[in-house]
Amino acid sequence: MKPFLDRVAAFCRGKSVWVLHYDCGSCNGCDIEVMASLTPLYDAERFGVLLVGSPRQADVLLVTGTVNHRNRLVLRSLYDQMAPPKAVVAVGACALTGGIFHDSYNVLDGADRVVPVTVYVPGCPPKPERILDGILQAAAVLAAGGDGSGGDHMAGAGGPAAGGGGGRGGRVAAGGDHGAPGGA
Ligand code: SF4
Repeated sequence: MKPFLDRVAAFCRGKSVWVLHYDCGSCNGCDIEVMASLTPLYDAERFGVLLVGSPRQADVLLVTGTVNHRNRLVLRSLYDQMAPPKAVVAVGACALTGGIFHDSYNVLDGADRVVPVTVYVPGCPPKPERILDGILQAAAVLAAGGDGSGGDHMAGAGGPAAGGGGGRGGRVAAGGDHGAPGGA
């Protein structure tokens, strides 16, 4: 078991999650929903969720859009600049699998090809409630003392076999709020 102070620090971290958002090149649909999830309407700050502009201050990296050969270096650099423990939340079909751009010549078919994703939030785009749920699942992983790597968590309802949304290795479930074009 971890020392007492380490457990207290992990608990506090889970109640005060600072989030860095990186858009890998989305259509802005997911980004708008991310922004909506941070507005007073959903009041993410009641959970201690705060958007920050520096990876050095962030506990959670929120990834939207299609990861490609060009932006993968930026994504990896942001992740590497975050201090451990840290978690990654992939938001939307594009960040999960490449979405409608899956199998394109310059697309890597998911953020987890570049960084270890802790929580997958399916949808095209997912609703703000589901994005918030994904952040809180990542917060729970950090609060439990996890390092956020190699996760298989999925935000929202549905299960790995729910069908329709698709994913890799049975980890990404269906249940996107507005469907996922291209079977992503
Ligand atoms: S998942 Fe859908 S809404 Fe989100 S960036 Fe991709 S195409 Fe746009």
